[in-house]
Amino acid sequence: MLKLYNTLTRRLEIFTPLQNNKVGLYVCGPTVYDRAHLGNARPYTVFDVLVRLLRKTYEVTYVRNITDIDDKIINASLRTGDSIETITHKTTAFFHADMRALGNLSPTIEPKATEHVHEMIKMIEQLLKQGVAYAQNNHVLFHVPSFPKYGALSGCNCEEILAGARIEVAPYKKDPTDFVLWKPSTPEQPGWESPWGRGRPGWHIECSAMSFKHLGASFDIHAGGRDLIFPHHENEIAQSTAVHGAGTFAKYWMHNGILLVNGEKMSKSLGNFITIQDLLSQAHGEVIRFALLSTHYRQPLDWTNETLIQAKASLNRLYTAMEGFKDESSSQVDGSIIDALQDDLNTPLAIARLHELAREANKINDPSAKKEVQAKIKASGAFLGLLQSSSETWFQTGSPQDLNSEMIETLIIKRRVARENKDFKIADQIRLSLEEAGILLLDTPQGTTWRRK
Ligand SMILES: [Zn+2]
Repeated sequence: MLKLYNTLTRRLEIFTPLQNNKVGLYVCGPTVYDRAHLGNARPYTVFDVLVRLLRKTYEVTYVRNITDIDDKIINASLRTGDSIETITHKTTAFFHADMRALGNLSPTIEPKATEHVHEMIKMIEQLLKQGVAYAQNNHVLFHVPSFPKYGALSGCNCEEILAGARIEVAPYKKDPTDFVLWKPSTPEQPGWESPWGRGRPGWHIECSAMSFKHLGASFDIHAGGRDLIFPHHENEIAQSTAVHGAGTFAKYWMHNGILLVNGEKMSKSLGNFITIQDLLSQAHGEVIRFALLSTHYRQPLDWTNETLIQAKASLNRLYTAMEGFKDESSSQVDGSIIDALQDDLNTPLAIARLHELAREANKINDPSAKKEVQAKIKASGAFLGLLQSSSETWFQTGSPQDLNSEMIETLIIKRRVARENKDFKIADQIRLSLEEAGILLLDTPQGTTWRRK
């Protein structure tokens, strides 16, 4: 029985899908103007585990959008001189590479905002017809006071939030809480023809239109980072339920906790901004994934200088227990691990169980009994997107930061010995592992030299 914490009801609920064996999940995707950072990595990784768990029982449609029209992208284009298309294409490709490195599965559908502008315009027209939106100075705004349930998700007292106002006050707004559905574009800015002149959509309407197109008016789970609850998700609810009626839209709302870096909020101005690419130059993607899953998703995650080191040490322990295991035997995922995940995605408990199994494997002398436990570790690790290398490969490659010159030289000697013994398979394996870790070998008449890629 799967239990999930629903932000909307503020309690743990037994998950029951809207349709028998099908689940629709929407996760707010990245705005593609810059390299994805650690704060982005967290939701995509924890909700990747959710998808894997749901797929055990249900047919899951996992939608994660790409926001490829946004003022941040326009500003990045002005700053760098690159065209908007260049920026969005390049950043989307980087994002996909980062997700692959973290072991995250691709979503079933990855809609792009720019390919759904027609749907957004249609939805805005419906909001105008309902009388909950108004057009003013080529803008269209959602009128928040016309939607009495506004604030139900965040539990926000909107007047209070306004006092701390980070909300844009503009002369064309009837109420300061009103938010933009459509805004005009200058001739240089990207824009689409609409009944309100040439312009572009606001961010919130993008997710409402794309989730409706791909999952329908009502779907099971909407997820994202805590920072999206207000105003983004609150606004999505207002737009979608104003159009499709009360009781529609997402049934369960899931949010991961905030990410801190050495106890502080991560921000460019504090100089503690970490991109996924930065981390991948320090550690294998699996180490980062392991670190992200070691804290329960609803807890704040404090990323310190020791986080990667600890994650690496833990993975080393698990891979040590897998020594000598060849993939010939298969097993089921450990029951306690499934139980832990079904209890609101308790990944730290699941990982603790992996360690328990590893200790068990280390203690067993009987080869076939040991293999059985190892097979269970392998299957359970796979379920979490972990432990997919062989123990040998793991310890040969490690991560780029671990490969100092001494280790590289040692591997080069091992390879030479293997070649002398005509063990070309092993020799090739060493060369490939080094290549994966960013080290290129050059065979010369004077011997083998190496350089970093
Ligand atoms: Zn969204």
